[in-house]
Amino acid sequence: MNEEIAEQLEEKIQEIESALEEMEDLINQSGNEGALSRAQAYWIAHITTALRKETQYLGGSMCCAEETIHEILGDARCTICKSRIQEDEVDEHLKSEHGEMFVNEEELMESMEMYYERIEE
Ligand SMILES: [Zn+2]
Repeated sequence: MNEEIAEQLEEKIQEIESALEEMEDLINQSGNEGALSRAQAYWIAHITTALRKETQYLGGSMCCAEETIHEILGDARCTICKSRIQEDEVDEHLKSEHGEMFVNEEELMESMEMYYERIEE
């Protein structure tokens, strides 16, 4: 059920991204370079960073559309401290919160799957 919703949300993100590309292209066609670079520096960058965590632009939203999808899909829990973490943040969490437990990076990577569990809702 939520997988389907997540899929639809991802499609909507892609629709906004392609609409943005078309808008950028239209502004480019006007030949007004100043307008284009200001658009890219402000509203195009704002919308783009509001959608995804990794973009070509500096900075990002505290919560982007991509993260909302992760939340809906259900996140994971650290089995050591029981705090909620996103699945793709597990290694970062283990390193920063429980780094002293591991001898080296290799051991940490091997242990990653042992130290989190999915939360099913
Ligand atoms: Zn933890």
